[in-house]
This record gives sequence, C-alpha cells and structure tokens, in this order.
Amino acid sequence: MIALNENEFLAPGFVDAHIHAPQFKNAGMHLDKPLLEWLQNYTFPLEDRFKDVEYAERTYPHVIKSTLSKGSTTTAYFGSIHKDACLVLADEAEVQGQRAFVGKTNMDTNNLADYYKDESSQQSLNDTLDFVHRMSDMKLTEAIITPRFALSCSMGLMKRLGLISKQFGLAVQSHINENQTEVKVARDMFPDCKDYLGVYEDAGLLGPRSLLAHSIFTTDDEYKRMASTGTSVIHCPDSNIQLMSGLFNGQKVESFGVNIGLGTDVGASGMDGIVQQIRMAEMVSKITAISQSESKIHTTYRDSYHWATLGGARALGIDHIVGSLEIGKRFDAIIADLSSMPAIYVEDETPEVKFERFIRTGSEKHIKSVIVDGHYRIIN
Ligand SMILES: [Zn+2]
Repeated sequence: MIALNENEFLAPGFVDAHIHAPQFKNAGMHLDKPLLEWLQNYTFPLEDRFKDVEYAERTYPHVIKSTLSKGSTTTAYFGSIHKDACLVLADEAEVQGQRAFVGKTNMDTNNLADYYKDESSQQSLNDTLDFVHRMSDMKLTEAIITPRFALSCSMGLMKRLGLISKQFGLAVQSHINENQTEVKVARDMFPDCKDYLGVYEDAGLLGPRSLLAHSIFTTDDEYKRMASTGTSVIHCPDSNIQLMSGLFNGQKVESFGVNIGLGTDVGASGMDGIVQQIRMAEMVSKITAISQSESKIHTTYRDSYHWATLGGARALGIDHIVGSLEIGKRFDAIIADLSSMPAIYVEDETPEVKFERFIRTGSEKHIKSVIVDGHYRIIN
C-alpha cells in the first residue's frame, strides 16, 4: 500500500502524443531555421545515424528514462526509418515499463536529403510489416503506422500503409499543416488531392486512431473532415514557437469537434516534459488573444491538462484504458510531491490549489514516482 503525505497527490499519467525519439541529442538545439531547412540541416543527419543499431542501443535507454521521469506514462514515438533501431526503442520501452506506441517512420521520397531515403517503397512496406509482426507479442508497447508526412511519402506507399493500419487495427501518426512552405509543397506534390488533408484522406489514413501533429494552417473544410472521420490533432506548443511555424488555435479546433492531444515534439522542443508543454499551450492561447486584441483566455491550464491526459489517450484509442483515474481502467498515474516547495506555498492549501501550483510552477523534479499498468516505481 502507498500512503500519500499531505503534500503529495496522485494524478493520471501524462500522454505525450508526439515525440521523435531519434532527435533527443538535438533537443532544444539548432532552432534557428524554419521546418524544412531545420529537417535538412540538422534533423535528417541525426536520424540517419540510427542505421547503426549500436548507436540506437546507446541512445534509446536514455530517451525512455527521460520521458518516463517526466511523468509520460504513455508516449507516441516517431522512430527513424530504420526497423532494427525502432525495435531497440520498443524493447527498451517494454523493459523500462512505459506504455509506448512506436513507429518505424516511412520515407520513400525525400527531396530534402537524398542520403536519408535508403528505403524503396517495397522495402519500406516489408520493414513495416516485419516491424508490426515482431511487436505483436509485446505487452505495453504497440506499433503505430508512421508515414512521416506527405512530403516524404509516395501515394502508393501511403495507401498500402493505410491498408496495414486497418488490417492490424493500428493507430496512425503523421504531421499536417505545420509550416506554410510545407503546405505549398504538399499541394504541389499532390495536385489531384483536395488539399493537404486530402492526401491522407485519399490514402485511407484518417480515422478515430489517427494523430496529425501541428495543424496550424488547417482550413475549416479540413477540420470538418477531420471531425467526421474522428481524426485527432496533436498540439506541440513549444515546437511551433521554436521553429516559428505559427500559433495554434485550440478554440477553433475544438469548435469543429476535433479531439486534441498534446505533444513535446522533441527535438524541435528542448522540453520532453509535458508539464512545461501544458503551460506553453496556455501561453500560446494568450499570445493569440493578445495578437487579436482579445482579452478572453480561451485555453487555460485545465484545458491543456485535459489534452495532455484524456485527449491524448482518446487520440490513440486507449481512453477506455488510461487517461483518467477511474475504476475499470488500467492504473497509470504520477505521484507528485511538493514538499520541496516553501511551506508558505503549500500549507493549508486545497488539493486543487496544490495541483494548480504544480502545473504552473512545478517541474519533473516534483514527480516522485510513476505507476504504469499498476507497477509502481520511484523516479526522482
Ligand atoms: Zn514531429
């Protein structure tokens, strides 16, 4: 039995619904270029190193340890294009006990960097199928279909990936409408598709377990079609600012009935902790309101906390299992301890105020332990 003292509380574990495991070494670094140049100059060269499995074996234990120590009991990882390195990531999540969705990233087209395209369409599919099969008997870890984004995939490959996701009942993750240049390139590459969302729509990649990250320049019509297919948007607040992609409008997204999850998007963010992203999401909403001469706050920390728990769980199709503390669900939680805060801040406060203080001023060092699938471990 675990007894909590007066400065400790139990809360649902966080769901980091968008993060790139091979980009950890660059977390928060080299953020001086917009998306496509950032990928070309810094990110693809780093991801390419994961063709060396030994490099993955040295890197990924730190990635899992770090995200788990921030309270991310569930995480949706993009891997690199390398199947073997992605299996190392999945194994490590299983060993350390994190509920992880791991994607072997698919890229049979890469106009930005030729060297990081060493998979043909057929190889990409074969590796994905092998990856899915080899992960099928894992306990906490599940494969997720991961076409990187429209710019790096052929329609033929994406259609086959859509079929694989349906055949095996797997979630799908990708990016959409993050950067204005990216949107234009996507439209130019797929002129027969209605718009950027239409690319994924035509490929059969939309559905109630589809996660599309960023969604800054999404049109009303695209949101309507996201809502009708049950597709979720993953908000990555720090990344959107760091790469100067744009301001996410959560209020607009929710007005269409589209579910939102929250992601750290390391390495375009230096913060792999969801608590900081919850604060950032509120900040982005305030900046948006200021820029539109509005005084109303649309996204509070309560909203973004919801995105970071139940919203992410719903996006992944596991909200009946995790995302909140309810009888009948699996037990994924964090225990936070505010004892190290000055007593004047925490004494005589209600649990609700303590929780708000943790979200607004706390950090991972206040997360004392995590519980994943009922297994308790002290982390800080
Ligand atoms: Zn991303």
